[in-house]
Amino acid sequence: PDYRQAQFLTSAAKLHQCPEDEGWEVAFAGRSNAGKSSAINSLTNNKKLAKTSKTPGRTQLINFFELTPDQRLVDLPGYGFAKVPVAVKKEWTKQLENYLAKRQSLRGMILLMDVRHPLQPFDQQMLDWALAAQMPVHILLTKADKLKKGPANNSLLSVRKQLKEHEELVSVQLFSALKHTGHEELRAVLDHWLTD
Ligand code: GDP
Repeated sequence: PDYRQAQFLTSAAKLHQCPEDEGWEVAFAGRSNAGKSSAINSLTNNKKLAKTSKTPGRTQLINFFELTPDQRLVDLPGYGFAKVPVAVKKEWTKQLENYLAKRQSLRGMILLMDVRHPLQPFDQQMLDWALAAQMPVHILLTKADKLKKGPANNSLLSVRKQLKEHEELVSVQLFSALKHTGHEELRAVLDHWLTD
């Protein structure tokens, strides 16, 4: 698909509000500030698509973007808001776990982590849920431009090593929205998951 054709489709706070569970879907997940909005905007060449604003109530929702009638990108909430009540966070967590466990059209997860702080507890939780559903996960180590080549590659190798036991389902790459690096590699993974 042409990722520049992505159009906002709908938001859902609960599973039953999601679009029909048909076709193919890839979800983007990451801690708040991991660079998810920047990555989606860069991929789709659309600055307004995933709002970089951190307004609670907006990013808390699952956002669906349509590429073609059968192919969607999904922006999952980041859960980074200190001010959100515990009960609200718990409800998000429940809905998110539900979505990952039950969504048939979901073919894979792009999990974004700051290259300088990979594999935080949130990331491990997302990995656990995805792996429990036998869902492939492709990790973007974001803001790679913040490190020199050597340290960036060390981080890449270290994350790969830590996830070696899951290598059949998990892949890892460096990414920078700012420097436009890693986009072809990402598109190849998305193309693969969104077709066949
Ligand atoms: P989100 O909360 O995961 O959606 O994160 P954002 O995309 O809003 O990015 C969080 C912060 O990191 C912002 O200040 C971005 O400008 C910055 N950022 C995102 N991607 C990159 C990148 O590739 N390189 C650099 N240097 N900064 C980035």
